Amino acid sequence: MRRPLIAGNWKLHKTLSESVQLAEEIKAGIGRDHEAEVVVAPVFTALTTVGAAIRGSAIALAAQNCYPEAQGAFTGEVSPLLLKDAGCRYVILGHSERRRLFNESDSFINAKIKAVTGAGLIAIFCIGETLEERLEEKTFDVLSRQVRGGLQGIGTDTMARLVIAYEPVWAIGTGKNATAGQAQEVHGFLRDLIASLYDAKTSEALRILYGGSVKPDNAAELLSQKDIDGALVGGASLKASDFLPIVRFRQT
Ligand code: PEP
Repeated sequence: MRRPLIAGNWKLHKTLSESVQLAEEIKAGIGRDHEAEVVVAPVFTALTTVGAAIRGSAIALAAQNCYPEAQGAFTGEVSPLLLKDAGCRYVILGHSERRRLFNESDSFINAKIKAVTGAGLIAIFCIGETLEERLEEKTFDVLSRQVRGGLQGIGTDTMARLVIAYEPVWAIGTGKNATAGQAQEVHGFLRDLIASLYDAKTSEALRILYGGSVKPDNAAELLSQKDIDGALVGGASLKASDFLPIVRFRQT
């Protein structure tokens, strides 16, 4: 059984006090009997403060990015070890905003996945096609290239420290989510791809999240699909009143 994972990507939002307030609202709201694992990803400067606010709760801390080197002359960058030191358990990698705005390549993302998993953290590895690629029926080719490139040289043992997030670029921040059928089709494809690259056991154990305009009113349907194991949530993770019903998706 794969435990569902609901991760909130706060992107470049919220001051320290706003971050703590949101973290405390989520902590108070989830209670003890929620089925899903809950993760929040604040900005770098809020990691330790939010980490302190959620201490003792079931919420885990994630960073939104990192640099693949441990230390050195890399002005402005943050390493996986420093993120671990700051209390992170997860690191989001390969988000489409990083691929598009910062020209991150599959091989650079691959180096980050190796560094993050090597440091004992869990990588939330994001992939997804653009609208143009979907309309040109290139979705599966694009995803296959991103998965093969991102996982180059990653062994079976390391796959236990990896989560894939399928985030169609056309659904991120647009209010236009993939239908449950569209998402399940891709998730099924990804699970088969992982089985062919690794083995059936690895593929069955892997959590594959869906991301792209997940909201309280579409979470339950998306998350009821057999190969959708959770959600990476952007906009709706910024308010506890939106995020909490997604965490409790079974009860909505
Ligand atoms: C995201 O940025 O990972 C995301 C899924 O954003 P949104 O939920 O706002 O579409």
